[in-house]
Amino acid sequence: MHPISYLRAARVEAAVRAVQGDPGSAFLAGGTTEVDLLRQHVRTPRRLVDVNWLPLTGVEELPDGALRIGALARMSDTAESPAVRERFPMVAQALEVGASPQLRHMASMGGNMMQAVRCGYYRDHQAACNKREPGTGCSALLGVSRGHAVLGTSEHCIATHPSDVAVPFAALDAVIHTRTLAGERRYAFEEFFLEPGSTPDREHPLEHGELITAIEVPALPMARRSLYLKVRDRESYAFALVSVAATLSLMDGAISDVRIALGGVATRPWRAHRAEAVLRGAPATDESFTRAAQEELAPARTTPMNAFKPELARRTIVRALRTLTGSAS
Ligand code: SF4
Repeated sequence: MHPISYLRAARVEAAVRAVQGDPGSAFLAGGTTEVDLLRQHVRTPRRLVDVNWLPLTGVEELPDGALRIGALARMSDTAESPAVRERFPMVAQALEVGASPQLRHMASMGGNMMQAVRCGYYRDHQAACNKREPGTGCSALLGVSRGHAVLGTSEHCIATHPSDVAVPFAALDAVIHTRTLAGERRYAFEEFFLEPGSTPDREHPLEHGELITAIEVPALPMARRSLYLKVRDRESYAFALVSVAATLSLMDGAISDVRIALGGVATRPWRAHRAEAVLRGAPATDESFTRAAQEELAPARTTPMNAFKPELARRTIVRALRTLTGSAS
């Protein structure tokens, strides 16, 4: 490992100043991804600026019913927050099925938003990877791609976004708050995660040294009845093959409002706008659920190894909606 110097930041402004003023510096929060990437020489900062001591750990209920989750709140603390569990159960559920207990105690919510893809080629220096080294190609296109994305892909990258909790955040229209030397910024969730297009190395619109300070979840009363359904190869410590975050409200048997987002199938946390459009105003029936799921997965592009994913995603969407409406068998 190359030499790395270390700085513990005591204030937000000092942390931002230290990293923005030095292209060789990087933030260190929980370190659950960053330290792996340092060991694998995927990231090679000269200095780590430790932000763990900044006062950004709170999970705060706002008067209008919204939540403000500090960027340094740990995954496990956030999952245990009564406000999260009562107002947004799909967020708590997504946190509880992510990673392992040890990682959840260590990993921060802001770091979760910034975690790197789990494509094996990204971490293998022998392999071509446009995300790690732009212009070298994408080994996954003709390689091992069982866990890779089928939505939001490009000919340059098909890596799946790995976060669980980002999926309910996408459904809830969360807002990411950041800090730069120029002041505070906020990003709508849909603007924050970029599809790979021709620049898969660019995953977020953040400047170098721009620090996530909080994630805000706007009030949404119907989300008190919501769920996160994750399908994976084994029941613990595994990434999603498909996941669905969903909530809906009914009026006279029809769906008056609905939010759905998908994980495990797309290059970013995937808001299911096409499915939502089918469902709004439709009767809460299996036929509507199936039509919505088909519409959402219609643009899917598969490889020979992940061709099972669209059907698995369709079935998982239908199952989530049946569960929410009490029609699950
Ligand atoms: Fe790299 Fe993306 Fe291709 Fe994986 S899918 S090898 S991360 S370019």
